[in-house]
Amino acid sequence: MDIPKLVREMGVVGAGGGGFPTHLKISHPCDVVIANGTECEPLLCNDKLVMEEDAESVVDGLRLAMVSTGAGKGVIALKEKNTPEELSLLRATADKEDLDIFYVGDYYPAGDEFLLVQEILGRVVPEGSIPLAIGAVVLNVETLKNIADAVRGKPVISRTITCGGEVRRPSVLKVPVGTTFQDVFHYCGGVTCTDYAIVMGGPMMGSVVTDPLTPVNKTTTGLFVLPGDHMLVRKRTLPITFIIKQSKAACCQCTYCTELCPRYLIGHDLVPHKIMRQINLGLDVPPHIIENAFLCSECGLCEVYACPMELSPRVVNQAIKDRFMESGYRPAFSQRDIQVEDTYLYRKIPGSVLKNRLHLYRYDGIEFTRIEKVEPERVELLLKQHAGESARAVVQEGDLVKEGDLMGECGGEVSARVHASINGRVTFVDKDRIFIEREKSGVSE
Ligand code: SF4
Ligand code: SF4
Repeated sequence: MDIPKLVREMGVVGAGGGGFPTHLKISHPCDVVIANGTECEPLLCNDKLVMEEDAESVVDGLRLAMVSTGAGKGVIALKEKNTPEELSLLRATADKEDLDIFYVGDYYPAGDEFLLVQEILGRVVPEGSIPLAIGAVVLNVETLKNIADAVRGKPVISRTITCGGEVRRPSVLKVPVGTTFQDVFHYCGGVTCTDYAIVMGGPMMGSVVTDPLTPVNKTTTGLFVLPGDHMLVRKRTLPITFIIKQSKAACCQCTYCTELCPRYLIGHDLVPHKIMRQINLGLDVPPHIIENAFLCSECGLCEVYACPMELSPRVVNQAIKDRFMESGYRPAFSQRDIQVEDTYLYRKIPGSVLKNRLHLYRYDGIEFTRIEKVEPERVELLLKQHAGESARAVVQEGDLVKEGDLMGECGGEVSARVHASINGRVTFVDKDRIFIEREKSGVSE
């Protein structure tokens, strides 16, 4: 069985947020495949639902990824709590000797691939590289479930998301890909405030979206509705020019952003306070320190937790990376022996602390409703829901399509297919998107 081929045909991409086409990730030999079930972003709980309700498929996907990569070992990484998802996975792995469960503490960002690999294998991913360089492939648990489905002939046409914040019924929902945020809110009982913004993804790494007609895609993990004047919304929408002015006025070079940076702590040469110094004062910092902004994972700990002046080294790093990428430049990192900092163990930030820092305490501790059946009248399928090149539409306006039909073919080597997530008629196609509307008389139902 050609597993990567089946996975490619069914349009599987990294469901944890990265969106890298999975068939490429499982096409190379490695020693160990790690199932990432740590879900470290505050308030997200969609992975937990997948693990609890579909543990068998997660484990099947892990075994398939191991077969595809020739890995002799599979590890399921979970948070250190006695939870229903853990019990489901323990049952599903009971008779499988080549699978282990590994527990990580409840800290942020425990789910960062680099940290996870370091914790599990005791090896550090080289700077500018990926876990495969040290023999590991890390896959999110929903991605693994999708691998198992792909081998059974089911394309990726739905995804599990957490929807919380200012909605009447905070929920974990399984929605067709392409469902608008507005429809998701409708299933959650509606939005409870008038002036609001939406954080797409987790509160630490997510971005602010203002258009409720934005569609859910294969990498959407969560939606959080927040009042428009919420601290998180204000912070995430500040223009970079203002952030730099603020930094020039307020950065006291205390070094906390460096001392608490997870990538610095695992030994990478990422020194955010020096990057800030150069941006602010243009003094003595060698150019490679600025280039090392590429080593930033954009986890957000520096801006949310470390900096006493509420500055954003994360945004500065992001801007530096964007500037370099626009000019087509990517620094080359030399291979060197990397030593984890001695303080690494003592500088893990508990997830619970971050909820307070993010002013999300009022949305914490709420029981999430589980919603299985979401049936939107219309979906908008983006042709780029993944890393790499856009897919290419293979349908035309007026076509009748069924759930699972191919809508977009891979647009290049690094790309992913897109499939119909509902039955209906294609009402619009361009190079970026395809709309499908359900037929009133049920022609294709
Ligand atoms: S933590 Fe804030 S104030 Fe301190 S060095 Fe970093 S950016 Fe400057
Ligand atoms: S966002 Fe900040 S804390 Fe996170 S990796 Fe980048 S510099 Fe380090």
